[in-house]
Amino acid sequence: MNASPTIRKNAADLHVVPNFRDYELERSRFSWANAAASLAHESGGGINIAYQAVDRHCATKLRDKVALRFLGRDTAARDISFGELATLTNRFCNVLRSLGIGKGDRVFILAARIPELYIALLGALKNGSVVSPLFSAFGPEPIATRVNLGAAALLVTTDALYERKIANQREAMPTLKHVMLVGQEGCATRAPGTLDFAALMSSASDACAYEPTSAEDTALLHFTSGTTGTPKGALHVHDAAVTHWVTGRYALDLHAEDIYWCTADPGWVTGTSYGVIAPLLHGVTSVVDREDFDAERWYRILQDERVRVWYTAPTAVRMLMRAGADIARKYTFPHLRFVASVGEPLNPEAVWWGKDVLGLPIHDNWWQTETGGIMIANTPAFDIKPGSMGRPLPGIDAAIVERRDDRSVKIIEEAGTQGELALKRGWPSMFRGYLHDEARYRMSFAGDWYLTGDLAQRDTDGYYWFVGRADDVIKSAGHLIGPFEVESALMEHPAVAEAGVIGKPDPVVGESVKAFVSLNKGFDAGEALRMELLGHARKRLGAAVAPKDIAFVEHLPHTRSGKIMRRLLKARELGLAEGDTSTLEPSP
Ligand code: AMP
Repeated sequence: MNASPTIRKNAADLHVVPNFRDYELERSRFSWANAAASLAHESGGGINIAYQAVDRHCATKLRDKVALRFLGRDTAARDISFGELATLTNRFCNVLRSLGIGKGDRVFILAARIPELYIALLGALKNGSVVSPLFSAFGPEPIATRVNLGAAALLVTTDALYERKIANQREAMPTLKHVMLVGQEGCATRAPGTLDFAALMSSASDACAYEPTSAEDTALLHFTSGTTGTPKGALHVHDAAVTHWVTGRYALDLHAEDIYWCTADPGWVTGTSYGVIAPLLHGVTSVVDREDFDAERWYRILQDERVRVWYTAPTAVRMLMRAGADIARKYTFPHLRFVASVGEPLNPEAVWWGKDVLGLPIHDNWWQTETGGIMIANTPAFDIKPGSMGRPLPGIDAAIVERRDDRSVKIIEEAGTQGELALKRGWPSMFRGYLHDEARYRMSFAGDWYLTGDLAQRDTDGYYWFVGRADDVIKSAGHLIGPFEVESALMEHPAVAEAGVIGKPDPVVGESVKAFVSLNKGFDAGEALRMELLGHARKRLGAAVAPKDIAFVEHLPHTRSGKIMRRLLKARELGLAEGDTSTLEPSP
């Protein structure tokens, strides 16, 4: 645990009265039932995320307030008010109904952060359909894998993405009944066998009764990566909105008058829970930037859009740090009042950099796809210990545990001892299953405890400190990458006999993906083949997932049961102790 000094919370530093000040008091009086009551305005006790996020506000003065403000590099900003969003999502809901897409049917969306993505996502939730937003930088392979696993009935995407990533493999996605394309400006033709988003929307009615979903109806399907097998599809229900609302209040300190910017893409869970749902639930205006990272542009957005609450990621912070303080000093951020980050460990230097350059420390928080919402956070209510993820939010019980052989867990009471981070089940956004994998879901729990797969420790003040992953998954630029998916893509190349993939520490993106490859007979391990394999992986997987480096090896280390020992590859690569190698199969 880190010796960096604590950042004291001083009432004079706060620009507004925070949503809570007394952590212990708030925890002791918190109940999920009371929290749910703040949102439940629906007859019959049901809850629908889109109704809660959008339509609920339309009977209030928020109707004309900007809900989403879309920025693009070459286009004027487009503002959509809560009232307009209600109408547009009604229309999309009606479009779905006209296509026979109903409650429980899966609607996949593959698009950059354009208005149509948000309209389709919320409109589909209104329809009771299950939405799965996919990251638009995925290559064709991760897209097809997820569309097929999720048995998507409809894919909403753009002309350009369709052309590049879908058209050639449409036949390989047999569950897709329809593909709907958002046209690029100036592109008059539509690919055969596809529907036109704009045309359908313009002929749809403005009025629609949303599907009265129950709290336990499935709303979202987010894919995440495991060490083995196909990606895991985490299923989330409409009741998750209660967690989004609560955590928006406690961990992001959202106030109705805020202008808020979440830099995450909705293709990842943060971009949906906190880039779409939480700010809308709070009636807050969100800025959405379509473009990729650019230090100068980001500072300008913070300044010109008068962002008050900013939720970003450690890789982005490190990229800003690397760009140098001189760029930052050209801008001022008098409106910025709260900054938070998630997704990977946030180094103490980054917390202090925030204080120096933005005028505010960065509040690290922790959660994962399965938890659906923020669980552990640094909040305005207590001092920050830079390097720590903070403390469990009201309503969340966390523990450090040790797994026993009989599948129960021992709770480690002593502070400062490393173990697995576990959360007591019962918060509304907890995932309700892994798609097609009930056994894996059950294995994630020991009695009442959900086992996160992260190693951590707790200090005497109840702050949690991240130690590492308990498995081989890789965190690169905030994205969880399954080594198996990368290995499988590499092995499709005729030269590759076997591949083992690891995450290698990287000062900016946390970990970078490195592959070790053994070759089939007749192929030469040379620079030309290395470049070809890098290109092959990039084409199949997309830039966000593909390895950045490939090394050729004679043999990969295996366990006696035949599994590649990635842990050993990593230890050897980093010059670390090899640890227990008793299960290592001797090299041929
Ligand atoms: P994902 O499911 O893609 O959101 O990734 C979740 C994983 O990211 C967690 O299980 C952690 O390993 C890592 N993670 C998320 N937030 C943090 C954080 N604040 N500090 C360290 N690791 C984090």
